[in-house]
Amino acid sequence: MRRDGCGELRREAAGRKVVLAGWVHRVRNLGGVTFVDLRDASGIVQLVLRNGAHLAHEDVVRVTGTVCPREAPNPSLPTGEIEIEVAEIEVLSRAKPLPLPVADEGSPSEETRLRYRYLDLRKPRLQRNLRLRHRAALAIRNYLDKQGFVEVETPLLTRSTPEGARDFLVPSRLARGSFYALPQSPQLFKQILVTSGVERYFQIVRCFRDEDLRADRQPEFTQLDLEMAFLEDPEELFPLLEGLVAHVFREAIGIEIDLPLPRLPYAEALARYGSDKPDLRFGMEIVDVIDLFPKQSVLAVLQDKIGVARALPVPGGAAKSRSQLAKLAEAAEGQGLDLLAWVKLSEGISSSLGKHVSAEILTAIAARAGAEQGDLVLVAVGEGGVVETALGDLRLRLARDLGLIPRDRWSLVWVVDFPLFKEGEGHLDSEHHPFTSPRSEDLPLLERDPLKVRAKCYDLVVNGVELASGSIRIHRRELQERIFRILGIGGEEAEQRFGFFLRALDYGAPPHGGIAFGLDRWVMMMAGEPSIREVIAFPKTTTGACPLTDAPAPVDEGQLRELGLRLEP
Ligand code: ASP
Repeated sequence: MRRDGCGELRREAAGRKVVLAGWVHRVRNLGGVTFVDLRDASGIVQLVLRNGAHLAHEDVVRVTGTVCPREAPNPSLPTGEIEIEVAEIEVLSRAKPLPLPVADEGSPSEETRLRYRYLDLRKPRLQRNLRLRHRAALAIRNYLDKQGFVEVETPLLTRSTPEGARDFLVPSRLARGSFYALPQSPQLFKQILVTSGVERYFQIVRCFRDEDLRADRQPEFTQLDLEMAFLEDPEELFPLLEGLVAHVFREAIGIEIDLPLPRLPYAEALARYGSDKPDLRFGMEIVDVIDLFPKQSVLAVLQDKIGVARALPVPGGAAKSRSQLAKLAEAAEGQGLDLLAWVKLSEGISSSLGKHVSAEILTAIAARAGAEQGDLVLVAVGEGGVVETALGDLRLRLARDLGLIPRDRWSLVWVVDFPLFKEGEGHLDSEHHPFTSPRSEDLPLLERDPLKVRAKCYDLVVNGVELASGSIRIHRRELQERIFRILGIGGEEAEQRFGFFLRALDYGAPPHGGIAFGLDRWVMMMAGEPSIREVIAFPKTTTGACPLTDAPAPVDEGQLRELGLRLEP
């Protein structure tokens, strides 16, 4: 007889004989009757056993029985209107007492969850996450296929690709003393692919970055990587990407995204939200208030230091006590702000600026910030840049604190016009990576005022999280070499590290550009999970360990000898 899915049976099946197989999710013994929740990949159904089988959680059984309407339906289960009157039961496999619960979340440690991942993954929540991930990947492939993209695999044993992290190295046995690097991204291969005539490339690809312990990073993670030929401006790529993003949200979780997405220049994102990945699900925009202070009073407050003064409205924040606000100010000033003052609108207007600043100025600050009775306005004074980021951090922290972030809203925005370079140690570094094209009108500034050069670079920011990052690339060798020089990569080094790539630009490289999405993060957000570990089947701990397999593990002497390696004592 055909096996039915536990979760698929409905009232209409009443009277049918069925064969079911699955795991014992829950067991309740009530006198002579045993109720079992049986679980398989399709869901859960209640079994009624009248001959007292001894069953433990997670035993694997096969039963034959009849579908019966349930006397007391359970509305929380899709199969809640029926149960299975069991005629025969066969135990296919016994389970020992469980090191972690499957039917309930419990509070097992991360280590235990990952060591017994096969149990952890049986939880319906994690099964849903894996399926959501599959649906997202499928939606990506279907959409891109229709748009003429070709999925091409690029090597995992390769050379270093600079994305700003450390490489994982793999020693070569055949070329002793030489090492492969695992790709931090397929950046150079995808650029070479478009010059090879694959005009539209994509890949759902594993990438590797050996970074120090940072919350919610994985040493190996998955990107949706894509690249397109004949693009010279980000705007030529956005409609396609927006279509992709909307399609995936729709197919994976049934959410409609409003298109086109807004564009926000980097400088404006910093000024208005104090972040290059602003969460736009809520307002609390930062405003400039320096002009509201008469010069003398700024001098008085800051004891001769005039910098930038910006204000952050905090809706409902007037309820914060003086001591809470004093703590905020102390913390902010510890992070390099000269001053964090507050203005409160409750029963009139009061402020920590006290007598230094007149009531008119306080009122003007509150009005500029759009604050109303019951609100708070924080005023930060200090060096440009420091003020914005400090207020950006406060904006997020206070919005979370005060419950001002709507949970059911999605805010997607393109952040554009990033600077091409940032200050590095003794030289300039790329803000994105060295293959990003400068904006054509900024080319004359390259050597003269490089920090002012804007890049043809873009991030897709979703609810304050950087979901994707990409750029229009450099497709001319001279310009690429010029950028390398500015980055302190001399001719010889450029030839040694990137010669293969520079040569590919010599033989007719089309203008091109692309992007990479963090697939783990994307699925995490759509699943409403707090960590990417909840949407990766076999993730590693924050120390890069896999408790299931005990990787990384020592290797034996013989293996090392073959590789020509010796460990330092
Ligand atoms: N390779 C870049 C990254 O991994 C993405 C891109 O520029 O397409 O961040």
